[in-house]
Amino acid sequence: MTKEEIELLKSIQVLYVEDELDIQKITADVLSSVCKKVVCANNGVEALELFDADGDFDIIVTDINMPKMDGITLIKKIRERDNTFPITITTAHTEVHFLQESIDLGVNGYTLKPIDLKKLMKTVAKVSEGRVLRKKLEIFNSELIQKVKEQTFELHSILDSQESLIAVSNIDGIHTINKRFLDFLGLNSLDDLKKEIGSICNIFIKEDGYYFSENLNDMCCLANIDHTTNSDIFVKMKNFAGIISIFKLNVNIYEYNGTHFILSLSDITSLKSESDLLQYQANHDSLTQIYNRQYFNSFIKTEISRSLRYSHLFSIAMFDIDHFKNVNDTYGHDIGDEVLKNISTIVKTYLRDTDILARWGGEEFMILLAETPISEAFTKIEQLRKHIEASTLAPNLKEPVTVSFGVTEFMISDTKAELLKRVDIALYQAKNSGRNQVVKI
Ligand code: GH3
Ligand code: MG
Ligand code: MG
Repeated sequence: MTKEEIELLKSIQVLYVEDELDIQKITADVLSSVCKKVVCANNGVEALELFDADGDFDIIVTDINMPKMDGITLIKKIRERDNTFPITITTAHTEVHFLQESIDLGVNGYTLKPIDLKKLMKTVAKVSEGRVLRKKLEIFNSELIQKVKEQTFELHSILDSQESLIAVSNIDGIHTINKRFLDFLGLNSLDDLKKEIGSICNIFIKEDGYYFSENLNDMCCLANIDHTTNSDIFVKMKNFAGIISIFKLNVNIYEYNGTHFILSLSDITSLKSESDLLQYQANHDSLTQIYNRQYFNSFIKTEISRSLRYSHLFSIAMFDIDHFKNVNDTYGHDIGDEVLKNISTIVKTYLRDTDILARWGGEEFMILLAETPISEAFTKIEQLRKHIEASTLAPNLKEPVTVSFGVTEFMISDTKAELLKRVDIALYQAKNSGRNQVVKI
């Protein structure tokens, strides 16, 4: 016997049917020495009962000539129950006429009596082989399915436990989405997402500085995102309750049976508002809430290059409160602060949205008048000067607060320093000429 045959026999359960007890004992002993289990029956009736009761046999080895129910009848009954169940017969030379009938009933093997036990074992191995392999395959398959189920469950548990909103997409669209993402959208399943929203990109809100993609399916939308850029990509999304949050968008690609995109969105709303606040604080003056000197400096730099590139013109005005020291000395520093705040509000309200007002330092301010030639700037600033003079900048001031202005237009040969110097000179002249006036250069 080969190693494979022995290995196979070790795994099988045999139903052995034989009425001659001495033969039954010898044969069963030998079979038991190798096979996993051998159950004996003395006739067809007993065999059928055992087959029906247990059902977990891999092969029936049966004699033909037996009392109560012979082997042929038994085979017929087994065939009614299972058309392919492995059956092999043991038969004497005198009973060979049964052989043809057995073959017709689909018996898979036979061993002549007196039984050559080695031959019988080989036959048992051969006949049961198909069923044993099929059984093994079934177990293997169900174990495999179980394993896939376990791993899928594990994967979903991992995805669901993530803080981020995660979706995985291939060419056909999103095929996996985590619970947090569904909860955010107030949906129960991926099917709901497809029915109610369609492409994932439809939930991104269109706004400057945030990723947005119109009329695209999932695949095109995600493929559209520039993954190679080093800068962060942000999106804005509204949750089921209408609350808008800001997310940092990450897209990773993996190749398996085609291209897949893993989309992960981490909520950075609180970080973003914090950084917006920091940004605001860096650009604004804390007392007056208008832009500060640093911001004006960087803005004017950009405005100069824009002007040179597109031949745009602009003017700047610098103003300084007249005798402001007297205001502080007479009414106190707090009233001085009040005047600074109010003057900022008045000037800001007077200017257009495209103009820029900044506190240059102390009681000095800068204005950038976009797209404005000097003549127009002069007229506008003169009106503003009168407007300030006529305004109440703090309660109980005995005299109106006035300001002096210098105004100048940007010239293409100007550096930033030259431009600022010129406006400073204009202001200086306004002061020297008696204050509360506008001087243009
Ligand atoms: P001039 O007409 O020549 O500009 O006279 P002036 O008094 O306005 O000029 P000066 O430079 O002598 O005084 C400016 C004053 O502005 C002195 C300073 O204390 C005051 N000042 C600067 N920053 C602030 C501030 O934030 N709050 C208050 N209340 N006063 C300020
Ligand atoms: Mg001053
Ligand atoms: Mg002053």
